[in-house]
Amino acid sequence: MKLDSNLSIFKVGVGPSSSHTLGPMVAGNLFCQDVEPILDKVARIKIYLHGSLALTGIGHLSDKAIIWGLNGLIAQNLTRQIQDDFINKALKEHKLLLCGKKEIPFNYEQDIIFIDKNLPHHENGLIIQALDEHGIIILIKEYYSIGGGFVKSKEDMEQKTQTGTDDSSKLDIVCDNATNSLAICEKNNWNLATLSFEYEKQFNDEKYIRDYCLNIYDVMQDCYKNGCNPVEEYLPGSLHLRRRAKGLAERVRATTDPMGIIDFISLYAIAISEENASGARVVTAPTNGACAVIPAVMLYLKNHTIGFNDDQAVNFILTAMLIGSFYKRNASISGAEAGCQAEIGAASSMAAAAMATVLGASAHIACNAAEVAMEHHLGLTCDPVGGLVQIPCIERNAFGAIKAISAARMSMTRKSTPRVSLDDVIKTMYQTGKDMNSKYRETSLGGLAINTTSYC
Ligand code: SF4
Repeated sequence: MKLDSNLSIFKVGVGPSSSHTLGPMVAGNLFCQDVEPILDKVARIKIYLHGSLALTGIGHLSDKAIIWGLNGLIAQNLTRQIQDDFINKALKEHKLLLCGKKEIPFNYEQDIIFIDKNLPHHENGLIIQALDEHGIIILIKEYYSIGGGFVKSKEDMEQKTQTGTDDSSKLDIVCDNATNSLAICEKNNWNLATLSFEYEKQFNDEKYIRDYCLNIYDVMQDCYKNGCNPVEEYLPGSLHLRRRAKGLAERVRATTDPMGIIDFISLYAIAISEENASGARVVTAPTNGACAVIPAVMLYLKNHTIGFNDDQAVNFILTAMLIGSFYKRNASISGAEAGCQAEIGAASSMAAAAMATVLGASAHIACNAAEVAMEHHLGLTCDPVGGLVQIPCIERNAFGAIKAISAARMSMTRKSTPRVSLDDVIKTMYQTGKDMNSKYRETSLGGLAINTTSYC
């Protein structure tokens, strides 16, 4: 197995969806790399969005994201103004600045084609073609957005290749699942944060790792602040949802209810999820749909417990990314592949282990917290109403955070021996997801997506 740094489990991305927005944008960037040597011959581009990307792509901005990616834009540098400028150029002036270098004609109706049928290797597949002036295809690439903003080529999928170091046996520390990670922790008397840090040091220096984690924490906190002070009153899209975080913040801060802590956790999650739903810059953690679970738990620790400082934030993120890597490597973090249990469930599981760790739990207890959090998300379907990452996604982030906190506390206070291991529940989640009818895997063809009619 090829192993790589886990830092990219957390990355600065653009909303509303990691698999349907960030992934197609990254695919556009990858195509730019491939097409650049023959750029002078390219006269036109055609894009085929398949499966879930076709069924819910417009609501998730997949069409716009691929336009941004083909224009050579990257997620970290996007602002609302840049996003609008390039979309206006494509839709009103009918031009694409391919790779940021060559202007070519673009016709949205003819050049982006939506096809419900899946490509062979994943529910989120797309094909990009470059054509010459005679309409002859001179380059064709097939990509798969596999969740969390990660994209693989057809060749990667067929060979099951992964980026990363060629030979994991050359690494001193190999932690590709919970079982072998716990063995390493036991041998060295490490907790999960220390194991994750020692693992990352095989790929990056200590300062880079710490700075990366702190930048992620900063962007999460900015996102919360922006979510409490939005420019627009309503979220974009057909649901016409009024943003709730600003009003909720005013009410929650005035409450004297002892259960008000629950409302604070909901506030943190709703504010960040609404930013994501608006198409703003967020941290993909491990996906955009589930981007608020982890920061909501971190904000709970920061604002409602004692001693949560920057060092603890780094340890929290290191632990969470290690748990997230187990899901990504051995199962899925894609709602289109395994339902919402793979997104909100995985985020809740990551947050539970991370919270337990920063509160002093051993690796065994933290893995149990991660297991408990996932166990009670098993079977959770993905059925976004209107194909938008709004209902049920925004509130679901709040519940994911609350369950994570509950799981961490339950594991830290238990005296009994857990019967289900973290690897067992990860395997179960993946099997359950694969057995799930495709109606419930980010197609908006079942569940709430078809039964919620009041907005039409
Ligand atoms: S229902 Fe869950 S998996 Fe589906 S889009 Fe919403 S947050 Fe993502």
